[in-house]
Amino acid sequence: MKAMYYEAFGATPEIRVLPDPAPSRNGVVVKVEATGLCRSDWHGWMGHDPDIRLPHVPGHELAGTVLAAGKGVSRFKPGDRVTVPFVSGCGHCHECRSGNQQVCEAQFQPGFTHWGSFAEYVALDFADQNLVPLPDSVSFATAASLGCRFATSFRAVCDQAKVKGGEWVAVHGCGGVGLSAIMIAAALGARPIAIDISEEKLAFARTMGAVAAVNARAVADVAEAVREISGGGAHASIDALGSQVTAFNSIANLRRRGRHVQVGLMLGAEAAPQIPMAQVIGHELEIYGSHGMQAWRYDAMLAMMAAGTLKPERLIGREISLAEAVPALVSMDQATDLGISVITRF
Ligand SMILES: [Zn+2]
Ligand SMILES: [Zn+2]
Repeated sequence: MKAMYYEAFGATPEIRVLPDPAPSRNGVVVKVEATGLCRSDWHGWMGHDPDIRLPHVPGHELAGTVLAAGKGVSRFKPGDRVTVPFVSGCGHCHECRSGNQQVCEAQFQPGFTHWGSFAEYVALDFADQNLVPLPDSVSFATAASLGCRFATSFRAVCDQAKVKGGEWVAVHGCGGVGLSAIMIAAALGARPIAIDISEEKLAFARTMGAVAAVNARAVADVAEAVREISGGGAHASIDALGSQVTAFNSIANLRRRGRHVQVGLMLGAEAAPQIPMAQVIGHELEIYGSHGMQAWRYDAMLAMMAAGTLKPERLIGREISLAEAVPALVSMDQATDLGISVITRF
């Protein structure tokens, strides 16, 4: 199979022909039809993710067709259209049995713990527990955009922040995660406030449902600007970027008893942010993490897509080839693209 491959962190990946994978007893091999490019792939390539062992094939947001299934797989067969959450559960640990596969103790993450989907084929373990059948109405490119950013945002907004209609929701960072969170919060009837340093991204965020926008470079104090817009602070706030500044602002801009959700990864130099803990205590703020989404929760998200209230395909910026993904990956930390890039040609 053709795949994007690297042997050292930070060295430009190459497109190589590697042996085709075979399914494990409880796994499948999927022919990748579409796979999204995400900031976590960049973090992985930079060496920020301790799960990655070299050499490596990245890629964790994918959709495709089952090519082969192991003997122990009963729910899926060759030809099935599927996607998969980027955190897949083992199916038998305490967390999986409680329905929280997104924090499984022995999780399988394509593109991190195992070789991923920047390739013609990808092997996926624990298939019965984690694969999600795709309705014909959802294209492969759209489905690929669900695997990490959109699903993670869905869990962050719906299940962790428990956003309700009418609430103010501050979203810090208008990349793939942030734009997804804005669309999902707006679909629930909430009032999203977009925060970014790019006027272009803020304008795009408004088309996704943001009712107000704050350019963090144009105001002296982001938290104060959010408090002003929302009449006292956001009910819920999401750090969709993952930086010391955005994490701090996302907590500081909450109203009393507000909920912060950390979605953007805090890696490298950003790993140990300051937290306004006096405010957390005095205002009874709640702080959550959000880490992927269980396969069984995809039903609710796919139902909202079928009803037309969520349109993740609007977040897709460019469809690119596997070879074009190499320069896109290595420059991801400086990307100014609106919307996400999806590899659809191999
Ligand atoms: Zn598990
Ligand atoms: Zn991702």
